Amino acid sequence: MPWFVWLPLTVMVSFVLAWFLGPPVLRSLIKSRLQNYRVPVNTVDSTRPTTLTTPRRVAVLGGGVAGLTAAITLARRGFQVEVFEANPYLGGKLGSWKVELAPGEHAWVSHGFHAFFANYYNLDRFLGSMGLRTGFQSIGEYVILGTTGAQVRFGKLDTTPVLNLIALARAGVYRFRDVLKAPARDLFGVFLEYDAKETFERYDKVSFADFDRLTQLPPGLKLAFNTFARAFFSDEDKLSLAELIKSFHFYYLSQDGGLVYEYPVHDYEPAFLAPMRAELEKHGAKVHLSTKVSSLVKAGEGFTVNGAAFDRVVLSTDIVGARSIMTAATGVPDDVKARFEALVPGQRYAVLRVWLDKDVREGYPPFVITDRVKVLDAFTTYHRFEHEAAEWTKKHGGAVLELHCYAVPEAMAPDEVKQALLDELVQFFPELKGYTLKHEVFQLNRNFTAFHLGMSAARPETESGVAGLMCAGDWVKLPFPAMLLEAACASGYVAANALLREAGLREEQVESVPLKGIMAGMPQPPARKLLIPGGGK
Ligand SMILES: Cc1cc2nc3c(=O)[nH]c(=O)nc-3n(C[C@H](O)[C@H](O)[C@H](O)COP(=O)(O)OP(=O)(O)OC[C@H]3O[C@@H](n4cnc5c(N)ncnc54)[C@H](O)[C@@H]3O)c2cc1C
Repeated sequence: MPWFVWLPLTVMVSFVLAWFLGPPVLRSLIKSRLQNYRVPVNTVDSTRPTTLTTPRRVAVLGGGVAGLTAAITLARRGFQVEVFEANPYLGGKLGSWKVELAPGEHAWVSHGFHAFFANYYNLDRFLGSMGLRTGFQSIGEYVILGTTGAQVRFGKLDTTPVLNLIALARAGVYRFRDVLKAPARDLFGVFLEYDAKETFERYDKVSFADFDRLTQLPPGLKLAFNTFARAFFSDEDKLSLAELIKSFHFYYLSQDGGLVYEYPVHDYEPAFLAPMRAELEKHGAKVHLSTKVSSLVKAGEGFTVNGAAFDRVVLSTDIVGARSIMTAATGVPDDVKARFEALVPGQRYAVLRVWLDKDVREGYPPFVITDRVKVLDAFTTYHRFEHEAAEWTKKHGGAVLELHCYAVPEAMAPDEVKQALLDELVQFFPELKGYTLKHEVFQLNRNFTAFHLGMSAARPETESGVAGLMCAGDWVKLPFPAMLLEAACASGYVAANALLREAGLREEQVESVPLKGIMAGMPQPPARKLLIPGGGK
């Protein structure tokens, strides 16, 4: 019997049997098919030495999570590490800085609220290695709020992959019958079939908007899909369906952590970044803040960075920095430059922190996703969980909120964006009407990694194509699924491992969610062709 007959047959029979035997059996079948939700992606040879004996200088360009992971890992192993960071603080998009609200009154602000998911295995280990996995709280519930006050809550759903899809329907996020009625309903299966090679070959040039058009997503499901799509800071017509499939696989369909995540109750600087800097310095690394890298030269076996000599380089800036450093670099082959030339940022995103004299009603988790009218994608009630913000409201009353827009419409001017965020906030929370804005910090940036149509093929990998120059960052193409903070951290480990391997040292263990979806490799219904430009011919 050919595999494409016996494999689905076996799976179907197992599911039917398991269904009768009960949910625990079904859960354990799913777990074993998905390799216990956690897989090592490299082999650590424990007979190898851990520490370098001959000096080797490494420049780490960019001090975000990716750069910090690589820098701390290498410094601990005896490399002479220097971190070059353009900002006056470490952390990149997880960085934070102090602002003066009034004479003698300060507050920390950051690039935005961050969720730490249960499947961030590498980040978890990295933070744990410095004792920084304390001081987190669980969000408890995942809420999507509509302007009419309607809300979708899915905190306490079954977290087993596939069963969690059924649970979403039971929770009222969508109706089975709408999915069954959808024109091209067979297409929903693509989300269970993640396989890096196949998925990107087939669907990287298909947009989420194309998928929506073909399936005519029922409204509840569209809202849930949009929530994932926003993780990419991208409008629907620009977002690659392959990246969205990867996101679903990574966050929802390959592990049983569910969508409920944790967040730190202190600002990122005291919580993570000051201890990371101390860890670097303890291992002899140098940190150059407010030092933008403007010159990279490949010089013989090594490099010069801003004129200083190094044996190896980890390029861990954001994509704007990586593009400008690499396209201007000397001694870099043209084909490598071309890959960096293609690395463009996504749309602008806005983060507005406000200190108000009025508070929003209780009953929501600290971070709530909103069904955007024009700009407001999410908001955070900082005073309800962060110690520093709570101190402010204890003294002044009111609220400390943060408003996010992940893909700012191109035509909007900065002031318009800010005003629209505030207006939409009042639309969702009419009790704020007539508020007084006591303080505000507004950021409008364009430095986020784009996951747009057709970008995957040229995306740089860890080995940059220049000997001795490794890439790290959430923009790097990794051989396993990871996203955002976890991609940044994992890519930092993978870059460090390349240099450890080269020096004959023991690698750090890197882990991943399962590499493939539960239905990967199964025969696909003919409807899939509808998704592929040119019908897959
Ligand atoms: C508003 C917002 C909310 C987010 N929410 C989440 C979330 O909830 N969960 C999640 O997992 N992720 C979230 N992310 C994404 C997450 O922050 C990033 O994926 C991650 O921090 C990227 O880390 P990185 O090290 O790859 O890059 P970055 O953090 O961008 O760090 C790159 C560093 O390089 C520096 N640099 C650039 N050019 C140069 C140069 N020429 N010389 C020297 N230094 C340079 C930059 O200053 C920066 O410090 C969010 C991001 C934003 C903006």
